[in-house]
Amino acid sequence: MKQVHNFCAGPSLLPQTVYEQAAQAVLNFEDTGMSILSISHRSKEFIAVLEEARQLSLELLGLEQKGYVALFLQGGASMEFLRVPYSLMQQKAAYINTGTWSSKAIEQAQMLGEVKVIASSEDQHFSYIPKNVRVEEAVDYVHFTSNNTIYGTQFTYIPQTNAPLVCDMSSDIFSREFDCDKIDLIYAGAQKNIGSAGVSLILVKEEILGKTKRAIPQMLDYQEHIAKDSLYHTANVFAVYTCLLNLRWLKQQGGVAAIEGINNKKAALLYQTIDELDFVSGTAAIEDRSKMNATFTFKEEGMNTIFDQLCMEAQVANIKGHRSVGGYRASLYNAVSLQSVEVLTSVLHQMKTLV
Ligand SMILES: *Cc1c(COP(=O)(O)O)cnc(C)c1O
Repeated sequence: MKQVHNFCAGPSLLPQTVYEQAAQAVLNFEDTGMSILSISHRSKEFIAVLEEARQLSLELLGLEQKGYVALFLQGGASMEFLRVPYSLMQQKAAYINTGTWSSKAIEQAQMLGEVKVIASSEDQHFSYIPKNVRVEEAVDYVHFTSNNTIYGTQFTYIPQTNAPLVCDMSSDIFSREFDCDKIDLIYAGAQKNIGSAGVSLILVKEEILGKTKRAIPQMLDYQEHIAKDSLYHTANVFAVYTCLLNLRWLKQQGGVAAIEGINNKKAALLYQTIDELDFVSGTAAIEDRSKMNATFTFKEEGMNTIFDQLCMEAQVANIKGHRSVGGYRASLYNAVSLQSVEVLTSVLHQMKTLV
């Protein structure tokens, strides 16, 4: 197989060993003589996979024995935009709007109650993170997005509030140490840093549930999923398995603290290069730059063609910016190696001689 440097924003790169083990399980899952694609989601083999994945998620985030339950559900992070207000909204919720995904979450919550946008960076094309957000007023919950995958900005602090705090951590969960126990409900689509697409991880403190009086459709009710041990209906068996393989890999690397060290090096190298070269600019405010999704543009449009060509020659793939923002985006999720980032920065340096 040729070596491609894949910077895809999602579904993202996974470690080679995860691909190999997942491929093996499709043919013969743990020597059962059956494919992982064709075993019951209620078999003892799959329940062991699901339980280990739930347990490992809590362990890697330091959330064990703190009242949290881990669920692997379907519908992507987008489903949680709706499941959250269904479960938590009584009258009013506060949202911080830092980009496309926050805006979508707000839209869904508005269907079920009043949404107060307490802080927003929309005034400057979502290029920064509002600072010192503190919510004093009584709301049912406060929602924020820790990493803005499309605009390339990332929270470095946790908003202060006495209300339950909810966070969409789809694109930076398991990438850095963050005081997750200050957040009451965390959700993340798996396809960025957890595993393959088709499943989401939800970590919820049970004590915040059951307060709303609305009738909640079962599929949208966290309590129902908790009561059924995350098996209310057919699980995405294969996706949960790839999550488990990836979480095991992360633990072997030394967990979140260890991977954060490598992630910091990757981001530092790329941003240093962007800042050094006067024909490239980062699109996010420097202090709010995301360590997972680095967004940048060239000073002149014409340089895009040269860069695209050099990327192709160097096997650098999936580096185009989101269609709503343009420019370029390099996603530096856990499985992306420092070596791949070095290839990308050397391509950027090569441009010096051509422009
Ligand atoms: C990708 C992403 C989503 C959407 O996830 P889906 O699983 O496609 O619904 C939501 N929020 C953030 C922060 C994301 O990066």
